[in-house]
Amino acid sequence: MAACFHQLNLTPIRSAFQSFQSNPNPTPKCARFRSRSAAISNPKRSYNITLLPGDGIGPEVISIAKDVLSLAASLEGIEFQFQEMPVGGAAIDSVGVPLPDETLSVAKQSDAVLLGAIGGYKWDKNEKHLKPETGLLLLRAGLEVFANLRPATVLPQLIDASTLKKEVAEGVDLMVVRELTGGIYFGKPRGFGTNEKGEDIGFNTELYSTTEVDRIARIAFETARKRRGKLCSVDKANVLEASILWRKRVTKIASEYPDVELSHMYVDNAAMQLIRNPKQFDTIVTNNIFGDILSDEASMLTGSIGMLPSASLGESGPGLFEPIHGSAPDIAGQDKANPLATILSAAMLLRYGLGEEHTAKRIEDAVLETLNKGFRTGDIHSTGKMLVGCKAMGEEVLRSVDSQRPAAVSYQN
Ligand code: NAD
Repeated sequence: MAACFHQLNLTPIRSAFQSFQSNPNPTPKCARFRSRSAAISNPKRSYNITLLPGDGIGPEVISIAKDVLSLAASLEGIEFQFQEMPVGGAAIDSVGVPLPDETLSVAKQSDAVLLGAIGGYKWDKNEKHLKPETGLLLLRAGLEVFANLRPATVLPQLIDASTLKKEVAEGVDLMVVRELTGGIYFGKPRGFGTNEKGEDIGFNTELYSTTEVDRIARIAFETARKRRGKLCSVDKANVLEASILWRKRVTKIASEYPDVELSHMYVDNAAMQLIRNPKQFDTIVTNNIFGDILSDEASMLTGSIGMLPSASLGESGPGLFEPIHGSAPDIAGQDKANPLATILSAAMLLRYGLGEEHTAKRIEDAVLETLNKGFRTGDIHSTGKMLVGCKAMGEEVLRSVDSQRPAAVSYQN
C-alpha cells in the first residue's frame, strides 16, 4: 500500500468542523469562524503568520522553516507576511513574562501560528508563573485550541531509528487526536489538603462535558474520514465516570459518520497494543491525560523526536503548529538540531490551518526527497548516510522544494 505524508491529508479540518456547527444564534465568535472557513474553502493566497521562535533550538529551526515556507509559497503564488514575537524564556528576558499580551494579541489576529520550542536550564528555578512552560500553556488556552493532532509515521528511510523490530514498525502511520483543554489537567476541584488521618493529600478532577467530548469526537471522525476510515476511541470506561460519558458521546456522534469504523479500547490495552501491533491503528481519539501519554508513546515508535510535527486547532481563530520536541538546550546554538519536525509543522500549518494542500504536499515531498538523498542530522544519522547540520539540512530541503515534482518521491511500503 502506498504510504506517505500525504495520507495525513485532512483538508481544512476546521472548515469541516464548521459544517456541523449548528448554532441558530451565532455569537460574534461563530461569525468569525464562518468567515475563516470561507477563506479556507477559497484560499485568499495572502496570509499573516505569527512566528514564535522561543528558546534553545527554537530560533534555529524556525528560521529554516520560515525560509522553506517562503520559497514554497512563492512557487505556488501565495504571499506570507511574517511577524516574529517573543514567547517563553526569550519573553521572560525581554519583557518579564513568558507570554506578553502583545504576543497573544498578534497571534490571535494572524491566520496561523508557528512555534519553535520553549524552555531551558536558565529559567528552571523560576516561580511557576515565570516559567517558559507557563507561557506555552497560556498560549494554547488563549488561542482556545482544544484539538491536538499528532501524526506518527514510520518512514522507510528511518526504519532503523525505531526501537521496535522492523516488521512491527514498518508501515506504521497513525494519528493521535488528543483533547487539549479539558479533563484532569484543568478540572476543579484541585489542590492540596489533609485527609481524615491528618496526612497531606493532593487531588485533581477528571471532568468532561458533552460539548467538550462532542467537538473533539467530530474532529476525530473528520480526521479518520480523510485517512483510512478507522477511529479507535481510547478511554477507561470500566472505572471512570468521565470515561463512561466519553464513550457514550463518541458512540452517539458516530451515527453522523457511518463511513467511519469506530472501535473502543481501554487505555491500558491501548498502551500495550501500540507496542505489540501499532499497524492496527489509523486514528486514535482520547482525552487530555491519556492523549499526553499515548501520543508520546506513539511518537517514539518512529524513534525520531526531531521528525515529528503537531497541530492544535480550535473552533475559530488561528491554529498553533509546532514540533513535538522541546528546546533541546544540550545542542542549542551548535547547528545540530534537526529542522524537519518544524518544517513538517509548517506543512501542517498550510494544510490544516490555511487549506493550502498543494503547497503542504510540495514541502512534504521535499522532506522525503532530502531523506531519500541520504542527508541526516545527528539524531537520525546511521552508517552510510551523510551527516549534516541544521542549516545544511534546511538548504537541502530548500533545494528540493525548488526542484521536486509533486509525487515524484512518494514511496511504496
Ligand atoms: P527536548 O525535546 O528538548 O530534548 C530531548 C532530547 O532530544 C535531547 O537530547 C535533545 O537534544 C534531543 N532533541 C530534541 N529535539 C531535537 C531536534 N530537533 N534535533 C535533534 N535532537 C533533538 O526535551 P527535554 O530535554 O525534556 O526538555 C528541554 C526543554 O524543553 C525543557 O525546558 C522543557 O520544558 C522544554 N520543552 C518544551 C516543549 C515545547 O516547547 N513544546 C516540549 C517539551 C519540552
